[in-house]
Amino acid sequence: MTNPFQLLGISDDVVNAVKDLGFETPTPIQEQSIPVLLEGTNDFVGLAQTGTGKTAAFGLPLLELIDFKVNKPQALILCPTRELCLQIANDLKNFSKNVANAHVVAVYGGANIMQQLREIRQGVQIVVATPGRMLDIIGRKAIDFTSVKYVVLDEADEMLNMGFQDDINDILSTTPDDKKTWLFSATMPAEVRRIAKKYMNDPVELTMGTKNTGNVNIEHEYYIVRARDKYAALKRIVDFNPEIFAVVFCKTKLDTQDIAEHLIKDGYNADALHGDLSQQQRDKVMQRFRERNMQLLIATDVAARGIDVNNVTHVINYSLPDEIESYTHRSGRTGRAGKTGISICIINSKELGKIRQLERIIGKQFTKAELPTGFDVCEKQLFSLVHKVHNVEVNNEQIDQYIPRIMDEFADLSKEDVIKRFASLEFNRFLDYYSKAPDLNAAVGDDRGERGERGERRGRGSEGYTRLFINLGSVDEFTRGDMLSFICNNGKIAGKSVGKIDLKGVFSFFEVEDDVADKVFEGFKSVEFNGRQVRIEKSGDGGREGGERRGGGERRGGFGGERRGGGGGFRGGDRRSGGSGRREGGNSGGGFRDFSGRSRDDKGGNSGGRREGGNREGGSGERRKKW
Ligand code: AMP
Repeated sequence: MTNPFQLLGISDDVVNAVKDLGFETPTPIQEQSIPVLLEGTNDFVGLAQTGTGKTAAFGLPLLELIDFKVNKPQALILCPTRELCLQIANDLKNFSKNVANAHVVAVYGGANIMQQLREIRQGVQIVVATPGRMLDIIGRKAIDFTSVKYVVLDEADEMLNMGFQDDINDILSTTPDDKKTWLFSATMPAEVRRIAKKYMNDPVELTMGTKNTGNVNIEHEYYIVRARDKYAALKRIVDFNPEIFAVVFCKTKLDTQDIAEHLIKDGYNADALHGDLSQQQRDKVMQRFRERNMQLLIATDVAARGIDVNNVTHVINYSLPDEIESYTHRSGRTGRAGKTGISICIINSKELGKIRQLERIIGKQFTKAELPTGFDVCEKQLFSLVHKVHNVEVNNEQIDQYIPRIMDEFADLSKEDVIKRFASLEFNRFLDYYSKAPDLNAAVGDDRGERGERGERRGRGSEGYTRLFINLGSVDEFTRGDMLSFICNNGKIAGKSVGKIDLKGVFSFFEVEDDVADKVFEGFKSVEFNGRQVRIEKSGDGGREGGERRGGGERRGGFGGERRGGGGGFRGGDRRSGGSGRREGGNSGGGFRDFSGRSRDDKGGNSGGRREGGNREGGSGERRKKW
């Protein structure tokens, strides 16, 4: 039987390679674009979500069109992030593994440029690049693009959001006028339209799915809770889905870190991904997530861009994004490669209007979901455990030797009693925790008690002291003593003016006497540590809970997108969980998740190399559509 990729015009060598990857039939976007792109004579605009098979949609035609006997760059693929760059290059290498003399290079920031230059010198036909590093290499006159026939602009909307427009202009000006440009974008805001017009000649346009429509495999749900219950709601959703493998989105780096820290403390297998981590740290976090050694990835929008991890079961919008368009990108992290996924928004009743706006934009209805009761969670966990016990692989060789002793121990118990006791081992812990769990669902218009709660939760300093956040901590190898000298040296204050120092992982809090706080701010204005901008903020300033804006929370300059304050996090939230009994006994095997906890060292070293484009978290937000 002829392979369907062959029918689309793909040659045997490439078909065999994609077969090895498990691609049996083309995805809809591949079916539609491959025949058009194979002609090689048109510019092209593809409106397609991530995770739909876009890389093969343009990658396979490219492999057919390139002359691999010639060792010159003939295709240039520009994409917004290092992660996506590596992913595309890796896919193309896999697709072309049977093609003689095919060379693909990935060019991205935050990695050794010499190695990339060496690969380019050795001769490549396909360059996959992030704009910043590409421009750097062009500036060094280390690449010749005069033979480029195809330029692919992948995730064009994201590249513009990240402020790469000028870089793209400069890069494209070094390529021949008669090249063909293929642009892919998940959304089609006016700016993308404009660049399509500017760079392209009568492009063939294909819309995969409806414009701006989220992937059809994704269900959208929202839960209405009171702001103070957000964290408890998040935990309840996670507990109700024992097999969850999710990305949780927060608006700010601070919230991201804060929620991850709380989840870890509460025994969840979670970690944070945001722009205050070094590239090395982010790679480590991503590796753990990809390998499913972590269940919950707590991320900012920017850090999560281009994440291509299959089988993500849920995307959780802990806070709604600032820009409406970001929702499509967030939810696109699930429902990839034909799988189904759920995108959840945890909102307060005042945000219901935003859900309606989202429904209009993605052309799909959201389902109003009810947070499960504590009893529901216990039941769900119990049966998940029962299911696991039933399906566990028994290592007869190892366990057999203990069976007589075990049987002895249980001699006075009936089969039913033994089962009850095994099931109770885990069940009791959930029962303890959830036996008096309140109903977290809030009615529309129910904002009772928000004000008082928020006020209390601010991370206030001791009497006469101002509590400050600093984005350095123990992973930067600071001791309390080091931190004290660091504060005194840069803030130009005496040690006696410094109060409590609360050293955390990638950040810390410290107190200074109220009357020197301004001086400290001033002193830290342009301080760097290991090439990283040191940032201090008033803890609790702005007093929003869980990323919620209050009184139009102030935007910060250099770290666009991040709001001040909120360091207080969830203290006073769902307290019963705090380091609760759930950790005791570690992970009992049939367990719900890795309860074993983890040391801070798991985060790996810190500091040094920022990712390409410096700290772009938040991007050039102004251009994006606000609510
Ligand atoms: P992409 O949108 O290119 O990032 O692809 C999303 C995921 O779908 C990747 O893991 C691909 O390996 C996978 N994929 C792409 N095309 C196919 C196909 N025809 N059959 C099965 N999986 C595919």
